[in-house]
Amino acid sequence: MEFAPNASPRFMGVPTFMRTPHVTDPAELDIALIGVPYDGGVSNRPGARHGPREIRNASSLMRTFHHVTRFNPYEACRVGDLGDVELTAMYDPGAVVTEIEVFCSRVCAAGATPLCAGGDHSITYPILKVLGATAPVGLVHVDAHTDTWDAFQGSKFHHGAPIRRSVEAGVLDPKRTIQIGIRGAQNTTEGWSYSHEKGIRVVFIEELEQIGVDVVIAEARRVVGDGPVYLSFDVDGLDPVYAPGTGTPEIGGITTREAQKLLRGLAGLRFVGGDVVEVAPAYDPGGNTALVGATLMYEILCLIAESRAGIATRHADAGA
Ligand code: MN
Ligand code: MN
Repeated sequence: MEFAPNASPRFMGVPTFMRTPHVTDPAELDIALIGVPYDGGVSNRPGARHGPREIRNASSLMRTFHHVTRFNPYEACRVGDLGDVELTAMYDPGAVVTEIEVFCSRVCAAGATPLCAGGDHSITYPILKVLGATAPVGLVHVDAHTDTWDAFQGSKFHHGAPIRRSVEAGVLDPKRTIQIGIRGAQNTTEGWSYSHEKGIRVVFIEELEQIGVDVVIAEARRVVGDGPVYLSFDVDGLDPVYAPGTGTPEIGGITTREAQKLLRGLAGLRFVGGDVVEVAPAYDPGGNTALVGATLMYEILCLIAESRAGIATRHADAGA
């Protein structure tokens, strides 16, 4: 499998994530980049179904060597675009959960690590069902929202519920879960209460501002420890100044620079998968949110590739 990003102009050809080869057999991959174009779980503005396509397009600007570490994930791992989860029941949220789960099961059974682009945040639950099937995983979760609410409008599978569903299913260890960037008023406190009662470490944005990103990194590393960990990045964790193309924007969020620092500080953890969700490109005609999503995906790709390859390019105890 050849990855030759300099062989042709970056604006040429059929877009794939990071300009990697489109692959149909996950056994050919160490890390599978996957689109999940589903937004049937949104509670406000729809549009994240268009996230994967626009992130693919914007990701043509991504490159190989990380500018801080000089790490090249494509030298360490076989990385390819496995296409989109095929949806055949998009009006049935419960059926979509099963479809995503079946797709990811195939990926993991083949030995590949999934890195997905949403889609709304409801897609994370079926992914965690697969990754945590034998033992619950830990989680670093960047978001404005805890996503620990119960059923809404008759469904348990909306985008404000995946973390709760995963804890209930026994596939996510709440005591090895940290939620970062939480903010915004709520009509009911049940989500915050659920996180608190289950022992999830919740870092509201005010605490992040007070203690700083370096201390949050140290806290994240302490919480998730040495076990397998998943990284879920909801772009509404960012301030809408940086990511206006999203369905449930909350002002007062983190900056893109804080996000990059945070992610880099997680190097060396045992990542078993990740996602970037809630990119709804239509609310951002300039395309920046898709670019932000693609760039975060590249950062997470580097984390997963280092983890898979057993490479420690950075000693991140100080959050460097
Ligand atoms: Mn979310
Ligand atoms: Mn959110």
